[in-house]
Amino acid sequence: MEYEAVIGLETHVQLKTKSKMWCGCANAFGSPPNTNVCPVCLGMPGVLPVANEEALRLTALTGCLLNGTVARYAKFDRKNYFYPDASKNYQITQFDKPSTLGGFVDFEFQGGIARVCITRAHLEEDVGKNSHFDRHSGVDFNRAGVPLLEIVSEPEITSADMAYEYLNALKEILIYGGISDCDMEKGMVRCDVNISVRPKGTKELGAKIEIKNMNTFSGARKALEYEIPRQIEVLTKGGKLVQSTRRWDDVAGITEEMRTKEDAHDYRYFPEPDLMPFAPSDAWLEAVRAQVVELPLVRKQRFMRDYQLPVADGETFKNDVLLGNYFETVAKQSSNPKAVANWVINNLRAKLTETNDREVAEQGALGIEAADMKRTTLADLKFQPAALVELVGLVESKAISSSAAQQVFAEMFETGKAPAAIVQEKGLAQVSDTGALEKFCDEVIAANPGPAADFKAGKVAALNFLKGQVMKVSKGKANPGVVGEMLEQKLRGS
Ligand SMILES: [Zn+2]
Repeated sequence: MEYEAVIGLETHVQLKTKSKMWCGCANAFGSPPNTNVCPVCLGMPGVLPVANEEALRLTALTGCLLNGTVARYAKFDRKNYFYPDASKNYQITQFDKPSTLGGFVDFEFQGGIARVCITRAHLEEDVGKNSHFDRHSGVDFNRAGVPLLEIVSEPEITSADMAYEYLNALKEILIYGGISDCDMEKGMVRCDVNISVRPKGTKELGAKIEIKNMNTFSGARKALEYEIPRQIEVLTKGGKLVQSTRRWDDVAGITEEMRTKEDAHDYRYFPEPDLMPFAPSDAWLEAVRAQVVELPLVRKQRFMRDYQLPVADGETFKNDVLLGNYFETVAKQSSNPKAVANWVINNLRAKLTETNDREVAEQGALGIEAADMKRTTLADLKFQPAALVELVGLVESKAISSSAAQQVFAEMFETGKAPAAIVQEKGLAQVSDTGALEKFCDEVIAANPGPAADFKAGKVAALNFLKGQVMKVSKGKANPGVVGEMLEQKLRGS
């Protein structure tokens, strides 16, 4: 019998707010243990939480970005359990009235566009972090009360690869919308994977097995690549699967059972008495909707269509939002957007990377921490977008050769001078004047009798060598098209 996998994902994303969900403590990573805490997030008796409006706004905005519905009535609930990292003995979450409902994520998959529907997205708070030392254990509450958005997908994912692509697409949307930085290394995105298998073509869902707390997307993919065949094997051998929770052991590359349904928690959810339900006004929702940005996939498709860009360029500008924004600013002013894309990707990005590498090395030598280092970004460019338009125009009109253009760009990047001024100052104007070019060609033919003879003997490639020599002698100023024709004429004629 053939089996198919049914996968649903619960993705927990740390919202990009300045302060925590219920108090004014900083929502910051990397602080010394228990320094971003107060009686509220430590869960002292008698304190009162106050909802962070920015977190509510980012949640509603996520609902819009995911094409869902923002609830006009949402409330908070207590999920009761005991664990040392949750000092209140409950976690505030949204049980039956979440902030957003429905929606979907479209993404590229196997040469087409796949869609995974979203069930809901609800707000909750993060808990502290337990650390175990030789002789004692400690709890760091810096993360307690940090706003988390849990985005629940419908069980519509059918493979490990599809889960991986969905997670990446979701992450891109959240970064685009300014919802979260989604920095995996800082634990800003974690997901729980729900998976079952069933005979292909049947409708009934098999026993749901949950793999908890995956903190990398590649880990989630590996866990699924292990778990799907494991479940199929159990069933094929006549065994039975029971609803359970497993953990992924990344080192061993296996999943292990943690608990089964029999010992599942009863969380005794009840409405949080210290927080008002949230019923946003029309004006508030309108303001949120105004913040909706173009989605990554839509942008890629639009760039390819409107600027005739190849897939690779569209992908580059989708992945690097700021670079894409910059490209578009320049492209809108230019009649040759493809050339602009080449300059932005091949020259500007390379120059920025090179500059940043140097800056990091210099500051590193001074003992400056990576997080505090100053790095040149697109916002620091010394030249205006119009200068890049001008440079593209100079090459297109053959006023300068493409090798001279490289020199102009390097100078522009360093000094911010206008391209025309650099061309003048450095004498880079392309020489199309036949008198001057004749002289260069004659010199090169005389100095390279071997290649000249090769060309006459029918070796066409020898012409490129000679052309290169003329470019060199002219310091890149010769018009390569004219040089090619002239050399050919001279060699064939003589
Ligand atoms: Zn606090």
